[in-house]
Amino acid sequence: MEAGVDIDCVVVGAGVVGLAVARALAMGGREVIVVEAGEGIGIGVSSRNSEVIHAGIYYPGGSLKAQLCVEGKQRLYAFCDERGVSYQRLGKLIVATDETQHLALQRLLEQGRQNGVDDLQWLDAVQARELEPELSCVAALWSPSTGIIDSHGLMLALQGDAEAHGASLVFHTPLLSARTIEQGFELHMGGAEPMTLSCRELINCAGLSAPEVASRIVGLPPQHVPTARLCKGSYFSFSGRAPFRHLVYPAPESAGLGVHMTLDLGGQARFGPDVEWVDGIDYRVDPARADGFHEAIRRYWLGLPDNSLQPAYSGIRPKISGPDEPAADFRISGPAEHGVPGLVNLFGIESPGLTSCLALAEHVKGHL
Ligand SMILES: Cc1cc2nc3c(=O)[nH]c(=O)nc-3n(C[C@H](O)[C@H](O)[C@H](O)COP(=O)(O)OP(=O)(O)OC[C@H]3O[C@@H](n4cnc5c(N)ncnc54)[C@H](O)[C@@H]3O)c2cc1C
Repeated sequence: MEAGVDIDCVVVGAGVVGLAVARALAMGGREVIVVEAGEGIGIGVSSRNSEVIHAGIYYPGGSLKAQLCVEGKQRLYAFCDERGVSYQRLGKLIVATDETQHLALQRLLEQGRQNGVDDLQWLDAVQARELEPELSCVAALWSPSTGIIDSHGLMLALQGDAEAHGASLVFHTPLLSARTIEQGFELHMGGAEPMTLSCRELINCAGLSAPEVASRIVGLPPQHVPTARLCKGSYFSFSGRAPFRHLVYPAPESAGLGVHMTLDLGGQARFGPDVEWVDGIDYRVDPARADGFHEAIRRYWLGLPDNSLQPAYSGIRPKISGPDEPAADFRISGPAEHGVPGLVNLFGIESPGLTSCLALAEHVKGHL
């Protein structure tokens, strides 16, 4: 620790990204505290997602999403093997359900290869049905490196590593405000025992609240804080036997990847997430959205029985671009962008943030 501050580094938020960042910084020799507003790890976006290890296909060439997803996937599989975190490399099919989607699929194949996903295969309808007999499609892309993961197990393993290297986590401790001081930052924390703490480095991994947290850092020019956009995704569970053994995704929609079928590690099927732009956080799933799900799913699975979907859960994508704008990349805003030494804000960490967490952590280290 440097003279004049209480601690080297404070990470705001104990989601999968904050934990991965805390782990990387603690393993690199820094003294780290993670401050979390909620009662435990992973109470935010990190426990409300598809738990898919993405291959890295969809994202524009050269984007952080492309780079960190491909790198993150490799790091994540290796980490899971090393630390005994449950996962299954199930593989996934992205399907074209009519001829008009052929071109979209072809573009995805090219994009994926450009991003370094070199194991993609083009399947015609017959080949796709050899893999998944109940699938209805005219063509499909096969991505063998896509998988599913126990995200809570992952977070526990990240926490364990961080703590083993001296990091500490404090819960019920929201960061209320901060200001830049000569050696770093003075932080004001709320909760049952409000306190003030100083640190040399401040990493904002507050997920949906990252823009709000950044806006409360006195000394950070406001033009470096994007507007938060919230985009809800609801999931429905399917109670019967899962129709597919691999993950099945439609050709992607504008703000999400389309209502897809994922499996949990117990083999149970769930469908989602859909796309609903919202103004506030309300995780209830409206049962009426099932109609849209039936329609979307029957494009690739004609056998979906009537009334077989139950509202399950929802998540909210922490976006920084709106419905009429091109999808924004991850925005890792460090001193080179905003000019405040020791500060890194992570904005727009939507999918594939879970897949990318270990690569994101290395990237953050590079900003300090
Ligand atoms: C519907 C959906 C599906 C997704 N599917 C996938 C997928 O299949 N694969 C994939 O790779 N990614 C997926 N993602 C993305 C992935 O879930 C996120 O990128 C990742 O979980 C973000 O983690 P995080 O740590 O940044 O945020 P969070 O998990 O939200 O953590 C932020 C933490 O900060 C805390 N916090 C907020 N404000 C404060 C404050 N002032 N002081 C202290 N603490 C604070 C919060 O309580 C929270 O615990 C999906 C996301 C959504 C919404």
